[in-house]
Amino acid sequence: MKIIKTGTTSWENKHETFTQQIKDLYELGNDPMLGPLAAYLDTTKGFQNLIADAIAAKTPIRALGSAWSWTKIATAESGILLDTKPLNMVFDISSQSVTPAYKGDPTKLFLAQCGNGVWELSRFLKSRYLSLKTSGASNGQTIAGLTATGAHGSAFDVGAAQDFVTGLHIIVSPTRHIWLERASNPVVSASFINNLQTELVRDDALFNAALVSFGSFGIIHGIMIETEDIFLLEAYMSRMPWDDSLRQIMQTLDFSTAAKLPCGTERPYHFAVQINPYDLDNGAYVTTMYKRPYHEGYTPPVRNTAGLGPGDDAPCFIGRLTEAVPALVPALVNKLLAGALTPYTKQFGILSEIFDNTTLHGKLLSAAIGIPIQQIGKVTQLLLDLNKTAGPFSGLFAYRFIKKSNATLAFTRFDYTCVLELDAAFSDATYSFYTTAWKMLEDQGIPFTFHWGKVNELDFGRIKKMYGADADAWIAARNRLLDADTRRVFTNATLQKWGLDQSI
Ligand SMILES: Cc1cc2nc3c(=O)[nH]c(=O)nc-3n(C[C@H](O)[C@H](O)[C@H](O)COP(=O)(O)OP(=O)(O)OC[C@H]3O[C@@H](n4cnc5c(N)ncnc54)[C@H](O)[C@@H]3O)c2cc1C
Repeated sequence: MKIIKTGTTSWENKHETFTQQIKDLYELGNDPMLGPLAAYLDTTKGFQNLIADAIAAKTPIRALGSAWSWTKIATAESGILLDTKPLNMVFDISSQSVTPAYKGDPTKLFLAQCGNGVWELSRFLKSRYLSLKTSGASNGQTIAGLTATGAHGSAFDVGAAQDFVTGLHIIVSPTRHIWLERASNPVVSASFINNLQTELVRDDALFNAALVSFGSFGIIHGIMIETEDIFLLEAYMSRMPWDDSLRQIMQTLDFSTAAKLPCGTERPYHFAVQINPYDLDNGAYVTTMYKRPYHEGYTPPVRNTAGLGPGDDAPCFIGRLTEAVPALVPALVNKLLAGALTPYTKQFGILSEIFDNTTLHGKLLSAAIGIPIQQIGKVTQLLLDLNKTAGPFSGLFAYRFIKKSNATLAFTRFDYTCVLELDAAFSDATYSFYTTAWKMLEDQGIPFTFHWGKVNELDFGRIKKMYGADADAWIAARNRLLDADTRRVFTNATLQKWGLDQSI
């Protein structure tokens, strides 16, 4: 493996919302002189050596994706960050590499090295007339970074990123690396394990815990993903009254009476709602996307005059808001949203064209909570009321929807989770609004979870309340997988703050 020690000692996340002092940042690369499999094996060895060095030097290390997280989960205080982005090989999976027990189609399985960007994988898959099953609103994350925090779009019947993962190649110590998959869903064959020179572990509890483990389960070198045939999305955004009938759809995801949506009662692939707390009388912004068979010759999606495409969400434009005196906030939010969120009809594109590159405009804050869909009306009313006393909140409320994930610490843990995002200007006032809002939800006894990669206020007490026995199961799995030395180097201050670093 190639390692460039950059000598970086001060590191900022993509949004420049925090700075972290580190010991170094290593740029990693596959050895270009080796063939693909030999290079992959060599990188596995390289990762093991890095873990051995970290243990010997008592220095924490952490794999870094694209640095898109707002939480400090990708960092290691006074530690070494590993830039994995150049590790972007993709391997086809032959039928010999798959166990006869696997029920799916091996031609749609791929082993992606951890640093593959969502944009890179999408381009690769497009050349095979295939597609990821879902993605976030933008495509800048690495595949390992995306799954590590349970990132999601709003393909509510598909799930979040980790839900299309069938296997993980994890470097768990200087002397051990494993291929981890579910015992209940065996995928790979002995020949695959032999090629990767690894050890097969089939264990549902370990696999489900490792799926969303934010860099704390060692280094995930390769991820097996299940893809599907390429498809088109037919996308619409319109303004609809923020009324009982819209809230009823949001709270049930029952589209059988949703006649006012663009394709009537057809169940969409993607459904999302945004509201401007200062312009509710003019309705909510409702996005619906319907899955269509792929064909050549369609007109690709176009951006509006603000430069936004159909899949772009608030983080793409909300950074244009800056801190303002309270009296000006409503007018500023209204002006920004009027320019950014312009209705459109019947735009077509493949998944990676709709949810494509993001150009960031200024700092912003994004917090996202998962709530059971049935709570949407109540929580929204509470937030709107809170905005009168603890606001004005300099941003908008956005709603996306995701079915339940099997990952132990997936924040999409309700039968259908509404991911309610509070995207806003970067300011102390926003942080303060968040704190008050979370406390209010707790006081009201409303169950909720936090996106692990977005602004959150977690400690172990809250995590226990949110995840119950699953929090203990995750800790037990980490203790089972990593020995004490390795756990220590993959522990950072955020994990400690969350109380998930416990040894048992
Ligand atoms: C503009 C923007 C839009 C966004 N849109 C969405 C969205 O639509 N939906 C959504 O859910 N989230 C969204 N997010 C949040 C983002 O998707 C998550 O924070 C995601 O985890 C970031 O991925 P990353 O590749 O940048 O990983 P990083 O932020 O770099 O890292 C995330 C975690 O992954 C771990 N990790 C990375 N690589 C490895 C590896 N090889 N082995 C082990 N651990 C590893 C890191 O240690 C860290 O804990 C958005 C963020 C931004 C900035």
